[in-house]
Amino acid sequence: MLRPILLVCCVGTFYAEKVRYDGHKIIRVTPNSEAEFYQLDEFQQYLAKERVDIWHKSSGPNSHLDFRVGPDMGYILGHLRLTSRVLIPNVQAYIDYELKTNIMSKQHAGAGFDYRMYHDLDEIMDWMKDIVSQYSEIAQLFPITESFEGRQLNGIKISVDPRPGKPGIWLEGGIHAREWISPATVIYMTGQFLEQNGKDPNVTAALKAFDVYIVPVVNIDGYEYTRKTDRMWRKTRSKRDGQRCVGVDPNRNWDFHWCAQPGASTDPCSDSYCGPSAFSEKVVSGIADYIQNKTINVVGFIDFHSYSQLWMTPWGYTKALPKDADAQDVTSAAAVGAIESVHGTKYKYGSIANIIYVATGSSADWTYGGANIEYSVGVELRDTGKYGFLLPPDQIVPSGQETLAGVLAFMSSINMSK
Ligand SMILES: [Zn+2]
Repeated sequence: MLRPILLVCCVGTFYAEKVRYDGHKIIRVTPNSEAEFYQLDEFQQYLAKERVDIWHKSSGPNSHLDFRVGPDMGYILGHLRLTSRVLIPNVQAYIDYELKTNIMSKQHAGAGFDYRMYHDLDEIMDWMKDIVSQYSEIAQLFPITESFEGRQLNGIKISVDPRPGKPGIWLEGGIHAREWISPATVIYMTGQFLEQNGKDPNVTAALKAFDVYIVPVVNIDGYEYTRKTDRMWRKTRSKRDGQRCVGVDPNRNWDFHWCAQPGASTDPCSDSYCGPSAFSEKVVSGIADYIQNKTINVVGFIDFHSYSQLWMTPWGYTKALPKDADAQDVTSAAAVGAIESVHGTKYKYGSIANIIYVATGSSADWTYGGANIEYSVGVELRDTGKYGFLLPPDQIVPSGQETLAGVLAFMSSINMSK
């Protein structure tokens, strides 16, 4: 009788070698007419079937498609009938440049937390503990849940002059793992809220009017994976028996028109996989529980992503506009104007489905439609594709400065509407 051979492996935390993207290109295609878009949309469906990494989906004429092809993927381009151009000629070179400039920034930083660079999760968690103890009179950590891989997800609450029923603003970053500018921008803004309270009149007024709840990195397992193993990872890291592919798109997992087609994928290997059920991802359901079940009064919610420079409101699941669209537009216009006034960076605003593409089960749709948060927003931060997800760290502070101006204008505009 043959005896089964026991293979012992993978004891403890095991990280594979880093995934490399040598010779991978980012290609951009922009359809110039309805007919071209029709052609391109067929190509996009082919890309989805082939599980090609799509960085930005086209939603109509003049809306571009950005996607990644490796050196052995020439057959993909053989299916493309429209003119294309190379946006990024070698993804690995951009990853290396990001890393190199990040390390240089670290060498110049000296002691303490450096807001000008991208950090590991451990460094971010240590910073969260340190900053709330430094500003303990107005800031505290609050526990949300544990992630799939057992990491503790915490947020920071900033509360000046607390009072019962004081309205709250919820700011979160890093729901998509590879969008590093998002956590970095949220972290920068947190530091500014705390440092500038009592100094900058706009920050002071905002904190008088609102409590602020901040989750710098929502998808903590995914973020750590992008730091250690695969810079291009987007989803969570949940694993399920019998399933070949890892992870769920946490921004298709919220329980509002969950997985309705065509705004999400039912393919577990897709980057926009909606999950086996709504709220299957612990970090997503943990935040939803916190927002809905705690006695907090959240009136504004912003989920930060990259890239495209967009300030987006519901709905994502349909191109129809919600009943509060006019009021939401007022706050969006204020935010976008304030952003531009800092460094001239131009953002567009509008509803998710109209301005980017139909997406179902997204955070802003649930916070608006499921949790009645009137001012629910999804923001796509810098840039518009020059670096895409690989934004060099010297853009962290400028992104933080302009985004903070946008958030403060958004808060002020909500306050005036009440
Ligand atoms: Zn995203």
